Formats: sequence, C-alpha cells, structure tokens
Amino acid sequence: MAEADNVTPLRPRRPCPECGKPSTRENFPFCSPRCKAIDLNRWFSGAYVIPATEEEAEGDQDQAERRHDDE
Ligand SMILES: [Zn+2]
Repeated sequence: MAEADNVTPLRPRRPCPECGKPSTRENFPFCSPRCKAIDLNRWFSGAYVIPATEEEAEGDQDQAERRHDDE
C-alpha cells in the first residue's frame, strides 16, 4: 500500500566518514553508533582503530564500548 511512508529523504545525505554508508540523523555525520565510536577512538588514540566493515549497525553501542576494552 503506502510504501512511500518508508522513504523520506529530507536532504542530501553525506556518506559516513568512516565507512562511506549514508549517515543517519541519530548518528550524524556517521551511519551508526559504532562508526561514531570508531571516530572517537581515533581521536583518543591518535590513530585509526578499526575500519568499519559491511556489517549493519544494530544499535550495538555496548559492543563498541566493549571492543574498546579489547586492547
Ligand atoms: Zn559508518
């Protein structure tokens, strides 16, 4: 029926600076909490931490924080 409900582009989206996927409004300018965490980690450590993969982000902020422990 109303598939248009699903598609509401408000403005041109920028790709996520980490993985190049379209950014989301929640995590702008990133596509997911994870990419946001990656960027944060990069600032903290002064180096690339872990490049984002193709995985979809499923609100796994907890995981991202845990991953930080992994070093
Ligand atoms: Zn991303």
